[in-house]
Amino acid sequence: MPEGHTVHRLARTFDTLYAGQVLRVSSPQGRFADGAGVLDGRRLVASEAWGKQLFLGFVPAGVPDPRPTASDTVWLRTHLGLYGAWTFAGAPDAPEVAHAIGAPRRRIGERDSVPPSAPSSSVTSDTWDVPEPRGQVRVRLLGEHAVADLTGPTACEVITADEKQAVEARLGPDPIRDDGDPEAFVARVGRSRVTIGQQLMDQAVVAGVGNIYRAEALFRAGVDPLRPGRDVPASSVRAIWDDLVVLMRDGADHGAIVTTRPEDRDAGRADAEGAHATPARTRQNTDGAPGAVPSDQAFYVYHRDGLPCRVCGSPVLVKELAGRNLFWCGTCQT
Ligand SMILES: [Zn+2]
Repeated sequence: MPEGHTVHRLARTFDTLYAGQVLRVSSPQGRFADGAGVLDGRRLVASEAWGKQLFLGFVPAGVPDPRPTASDTVWLRTHLGLYGAWTFAGAPDAPEVAHAIGAPRRRIGERDSVPPSAPSSSVTSDTWDVPEPRGQVRVRLLGEHAVADLTGPTACEVITADEKQAVEARLGPDPIRDDGDPEAFVARVGRSRVTIGQQLMDQAVVAGVGNIYRAEALFRAGVDPLRPGRDVPASSVRAIWDDLVVLMRDGADHGAIVTTRPEDRDAGRADAEGAHATPARTRQNTDGAPGAVPSDQAFYVYHRDGLPCRVCGSPVLVKELAGRNLFWCGTCQT
């Protein structure tokens, strides 16, 4: 399942491609025909992410200088879940966009963004060839320069502004959003005896964190994932939040999760793999850029069970928690 940084990248992509445009909205598969009928011919005026939820705001095409809070705004709410994906194709003059985000699951550390592929032509619009939908496309958004197809989502519905607020009220603060409230997170974790490892996966506690950010943030904070939330010092919980803000915003900017500090990576192996014999100084300067860090160097503990901890050398542990594998170091995280 994509983590929150990917959904924020999607929101930015929709903003780049469609903001201010009147869209043709359809449901090639048919299951969203009614909702598509409501949105078709409306103007997209807002593109927001909160955790793993994506909200696209539409107003009637005739509304001048629309504001997203207007009462006549309706929202398309989508959630990719485990299997959903957005696929984009664009005209030659379209802005560079994400090509496909979501399932099938991408290799860890793989870039989310590539230049749009040349669309395979079938339907010809005035200026460019729009590709036929591929697979079971729940909703298709067609703008002036690009088309976006959604397949396999967990949620895809049209909601009112009030309903959007109700959805958001059930979500915890999102570290990527400017309005993310650290105090709400700290208070919530401290009220519960549920382990902090479980709480970090609860979207009502913190929105957008998935299995990778959970494991990595706990490692970086040196916190035992199995400790009840209320037994973790508030200062440590706050430090986890502050770290998530940095890590997840970096992920949203670069399209890849990288949590390792340069000094903790396997420099020897990185040198052997880097065909260009990059000097250490240059490698550090490019830290965080997509592709700059090999995927097997990007994490401290995630999917490294049995391998030596990068810091202390103890074998990384794994255990199922809240339905997902949790990875941690029993020596560094106490
Ligand atoms: Zn360790």
